[in-house]
Amino acid sequence: MLYINGEWQESKTGETFVSFNPATGEKIGEVADGTKEDAKRAIDAAYEAFTHWSSLTAYERSSYLYKAYELMMERKEELAKLMTIEQGKPLKASLNEVQYGADFLLWYAEEAKRLYGQTIPSARKDQRFIVIQQPVGVVAAITPWNYPISMITRKIAPAIAAGCTVVLKPAEQTPLCAIEVFKAFIDAGIPKGVINLVTTSQPAPIGEEFIENPKVQKLTFTGSTAVGKFLAKGAAGNMKRVSMELGGHAPFIVCEDADPVHAAKGVSLVKFLNSGQACISPNRIFVHRNMLEPFTETFVKRVEKMKVGNGLNEGVTIGPLVDEQAINKVFNQVKDAVQKGAELVVGGERLTFGELEKGTFFAPTVLKNVTSNMLIYHEETFGPVAPIIPYDDDDNVLEMANDTNYGLAAYVYTNDVARAIKLFEGLRFAIVGINDINPTSAAAPFGGMKDSGIGREGGHEGIQEYLETKLGGFSVK
Ligand code: NAD
Repeated sequence: MLYINGEWQESKTGETFVSFNPATGEKIGEVADGTKEDAKRAIDAAYEAFTHWSSLTAYERSSYLYKAYELMMERKEELAKLMTIEQGKPLKASLNEVQYGADFLLWYAEEAKRLYGQTIPSARKDQRFIVIQQPVGVVAAITPWNYPISMITRKIAPAIAAGCTVVLKPAEQTPLCAIEVFKAFIDAGIPKGVINLVTTSQPAPIGEEFIENPKVQKLTFTGSTAVGKFLAKGAAGNMKRVSMELGGHAPFIVCEDADPVHAAKGVSLVKFLNSGQACISPNRIFVHRNMLEPFTETFVKRVEKMKVGNGLNEGVTIGPLVDEQAINKVFNQVKDAVQKGAELVVGGERLTFGELEKGTFFAPTVLKNVTSNMLIYHEETFGPVAPIIPYDDDDNVLEMANDTNYGLAAYVYTNDVARAIKLFEGLRFAIVGINDINPTSAAAPFGGMKDSGIGREGGHEGIQEYLETKLGGFSVK
């Protein structure tokens, strides 16, 4: 169903599309297949609603966000279960994501009240400067399938807290999660037109409407760098503001003084999170030559123990990949690396036995002796493959880690403070975990440099993306 102007409705054509469970291949639901025309109607509704919504006090807007937060927490178990069925990640990971998603509602319920302006002293005695912040207007939002709940709240919460109204187009693989998130907002009593949902199996025409429609002031996108660049180009042609959260190619550096067991535990958790389908997933594991043996031994032991399967089953740590295309991409990277001399330590194949037969499962994989001539050294994998690359000194590893167009997340394991600071400062990545694999929070700025995007989500920076700065120069003659 589409949600436009406060009403659940069919698409104008009456067409629908199906959502599948990637673990079983089963159909789990059918939703309205929205068109360009539907997107236009949703934008009209958001435009109409903007005047009223932006005129509410910050305290009033905040109260809706608090209520939506409470509802998401009450529905945590159901939302998590749906996420596992529709997206595939293990139930525990889904519960964590619902919490992370809800955190944005709570944090921006509070931040809504702190959109301060400023006064600036003038050089003229008879003049005053006052600066205020105002919402940008109608926001068009596009989100991916890999974090199908938190990517939505990470955009909608700051946008509506700022006083903007929103039209969301979620990923075609996870429309049911988007519908359930909307129900929390709707049951919180949010007025009609403030948030609108257009599910579709055909994203391109909706993207076109978002870019071309003069009523849209801002486009916020999370997804691949290729689509992000395409949309940003279109938005620039119409002078729309953009936030772009794009791909990553995170280095994970295990220094010569690191605790190899701690580092191996860290990387095994973060690399295989969401089966490697995370933008902050480590994609190149640089290990100091002196650490190679103890690190690899512990790491491989942990990977061998991982349980692949349906995320609803107890003890499963690795769910399916999103689709056949993802399986092929991962398989090709592994094949290319092995052909060029990498050593396959564990995994390396699609799993098709027993209950895994109908899903898109790939074995957790470790490759040793990966070199710069291999595809996996340069391409985002988005799958459960961990390539280990030996290095010799800090300058050498910094150069290798920065040898990418991406600049989202990076990780460093070291027990030397000076080295930690040097690497933190030298890495051309916008998020750096130091002996830490989860440097993310609703309270902290998340985003990328270079081809990983423009803008930040979360924290104080996240709401600035939805605000205009307005200067008033007052003559007091
Ligand atoms: P994708 O770019 O194919 O799809 C993302 C979204 O864009 C989906 O909603 C899709 O329907 C939509 N889309 C695709 N083509 C479009 C078009 N022409 N016009 C309008 N919308 C269009 O990406 P994906 O492969 O599904 O998602 C994975 C990518 O997302 C990875 O590269 C990953 O690193 C990135 N990602 C980044 C972050 C971050 O915060 N930086 C978070 C999660 C995922």
